[in-house]
Amino acid sequence: MRHLRALILVTPAWIAALALLLASATPFHPAAAESNPAIAKDARLAGDSERTRFIADLSRKVEVRTFALGNPYRVIVDAADVSFQMPAGVGKEQRGLITAYRYGLFAPGKSRIVIDVSGPFLIDKAFVLEPRDNQPARLVIDLVPTDEKTFLAKLEESKPQDANETAPPLPTHAPDPNAKPVVVLDPGHGGIDPGAKSPSGVAEKEVVLAFSKILKTKLEATGRYEVHMTREDDTFLPLRERVAFAQKRGARLFLSIHADYFPDKPEIARGATVYLLSEDASDEEAKALAAKENFSDVIAGVALPNDSDEVLANILIDLTQRETQNRSAVFGRSIVGELAGKGNLHTKKLRGAGFRVLKAPDVPSVLLELGFLSHPEDEKRLVSDPWRERMAGSVVKAIDNYFAKKLAGNPF
Ligand SMILES: [Zn+2]
Repeated sequence: MRHLRALILVTPAWIAALALLLASATPFHPAAAESNPAIAKDARLAGDSERTRFIADLSRKVEVRTFALGNPYRVIVDAADVSFQMPAGVGKEQRGLITAYRYGLFAPGKSRIVIDVSGPFLIDKAFVLEPRDNQPARLVIDLVPTDEKTFLAKLEESKPQDANETAPPLPTHAPDPNAKPVVVLDPGHGGIDPGAKSPSGVAEKEVVLAFSKILKTKLEATGRYEVHMTREDDTFLPLRERVAFAQKRGARLFLSIHADYFPDKPEIARGATVYLLSEDASDEEAKALAAKENFSDVIAGVALPNDSDEVLANILIDLTQRETQNRSAVFGRSIVGELAGKGNLHTKKLRGAGFRVLKAPDVPSVLLELGFLSHPEDEKRLVSDPWRERMAGSVVKAIDNYFAKKLAGNPF
């Protein structure tokens, strides 16, 4: 902006054109910020467990907002627009109080760094230095250890109210009985949270986004559905916002799409699995998977609601939820029915566990794990367009069957 103002002063002939440009750049649009993002080129740790320093090299000075989160202990650094071009392997190092860190897009135009900390801590310093003497601009954060009580006291006074907001709220509208049923597809993970990764580096967030786009196109081509995706690009979205997204659009069906990873038995575990919300996990594998998928918010530095709020909400929504659960199971069985016999299933059983993303009390919701990124053949399928087309075709049939049953007068 400083640069633009200088031009205006020097060459009055530019005023009109620039004024137009500036006018078209407001109100704020993410694309406007993307034109000149600061570049984060490298990061490193210094110090010891008495004082641990996080340093990131930036192409220019940026405004940052830093705050702490507990359970687990994390430092969150938010900036308006940073493009991360870090060397591979950055973020895995451990030093002093810091056990790992990661970075990426948290929402359009909003970048985030999440630093994992081993115990209660205080952010002693957080600042950005101007570039000078051939040194890049630098983000510096100093952490010092403290006791749990002090940590919690500081947490309360410093937590920003809007820390988890990634998008402006959407007005809720009343459903139109003649409108096409709304189907919401939810590609898991995104941005700062890559999800599972295959040994060769294929990321779950990319596979599930590509698949969801194909599925959306196929569903729309039937002319029978209005289809929305919770994310259309490499952006992170907290789990409860995915749920809210479906509710606010009056979704009649919600399908969360993922790809699994099972390093203990890479040659054995393969194929798709259908999961439903369940208070008690159906088996250990389902329980472990739900824990892994629910961890998405922790990875991205989202503050989780406290448990007492959730318990209360669960009692209130229980009655609606039972009916929704029945519908979810019908949809789940419909997917299994389409995939069975095509060599695409890990198990015919519908599995259940406490997936946060399936918790809309009023929207039938299913989570589909497309396959295992840890299995070499599954990995080939997951990145193959012809396979994605066939798999998406089966899911379209499953959705058709679900709504056909509904039309046939089934009580759901
Ligand atoms: Zn996942």
